[in-house]
Amino acid sequence: MPEEFTVTPWEVKGDIDYDLLMKKFGTTPVDDALLERLAGYGELHPMLKRGIFYSHRDLVWLLNEYDKGNKFTIYTGRGPSGNTHLGHMMPWIFNKWVQDTFKVDMIFQMTNDEKFLFKDMDLDDTTNMAYQNALDFIALGFDTKRTKIILNTKNIDKLYPIALSVAKKVTFSTAKAVFGFDNSTNIGSIFFSAMQSAPAFIPSVDAGRQVPVLIPCGIDQDPHFRVCRDVAPGLGFPKPSSVYCKMMPGLSGGDKMSSSDENATIYTTDTPKQVKKKVGRAFTGGCVSVEEQREKGGNPEVCSVFKYNYYMFEHSDDELNELARKCRNGEILCGECKMCLTQKINVFLEDHQEKREKAKDVIADMAYDGFEW
Ligand code: SF4
Repeated sequence: MPEEFTVTPWEVKGDIDYDLLMKKFGTTPVDDALLERLAGYGELHPMLKRGIFYSHRDLVWLLNEYDKGNKFTIYTGRGPSGNTHLGHMMPWIFNKWVQDTFKVDMIFQMTNDEKFLFKDMDLDDTTNMAYQNALDFIALGFDTKRTKIILNTKNIDKLYPIALSVAKKVTFSTAKAVFGFDNSTNIGSIFFSAMQSAPAFIPSVDAGRQVPVLIPCGIDQDPHFRVCRDVAPGLGFPKPSSVYCKMMPGLSGGDKMSSSDENATIYTTDTPKQVKKKVGRAFTGGCVSVEEQREKGGNPEVCSVFKYNYYMFEHSDDELNELARKCRNGEILCGECKMCLTQKINVFLEDHQEKREKAKDVIADMAYDGFEW
């Protein structure tokens, strides 16, 4: 089968076939039975209903444990290589829903070491960026008592012994096969996956018993957690469960919002004017002329403006269906549609930017083991 896309923890390109990716990675679809079960814990998040969080590993097992009273810890994170954009926020918003619904603890790992190793950035830059990214994460309203932020270079005392035990179980041959490393890869990068596995075992180490862990994140991160799951039983830890999302699309029509395309990427610190400009230039499914669009209608399936509503900015299914209907019938034109989305994004960002400022007051309290930023 020809593959015209690439998805690894460090590179996403091409038109992603998410079903094929699921098969390739060997993950399980979030099916109707699982959705029905999840709805029993609280109102389903739109990202579940709409198939954005669409695939998982051992989520049923995790829920069985939860029902028996064995609560899980959420683990997710961020590689701090640049300012936070909406594509980063999307899975964090879902993580917040998981925490609110299940009332569970959470670990958020900032991999400043990873970005130092893989990018042309120095460690001060990735560490400063971790602080900026953490403000965005906190601003989403995670429970400050239940949530701890790990910064790899600051929490190395805790991470290193666990990462070492992981590293001892992973051969170079496995690392090459899973991550595509070769002889030119620096040796820090080869070790790094062990650092990303470590937080999945911290809850068990800290509690002195087997604590289930749920990792909600982009499916591009699955290779790390495949390795992590493979070594877990041999180290006496439960295999972490995961639930994976599709990537937030870019405004230029690409499959993933990316900082390399700044004009098609909305950052959390963007001004209303910048948002208006970026959305104004967005790729749509509209026609070349107003007349043609009134007559033939647009195509919401390929439209990035519609996708933004679908992924993040329109929670009502009725409103979303109505937008699709009006688009197809030529009852709404792209200019109006872009203005509506601009307004929604700006309302969201105005509120977020206020909360982001307030996050500075609590960021120290959320540092794992009380490290100093
Ligand atoms: Fe996209 Fe809206 Fe234009 Fe339809 S009318 S193609 S949804 S921007």
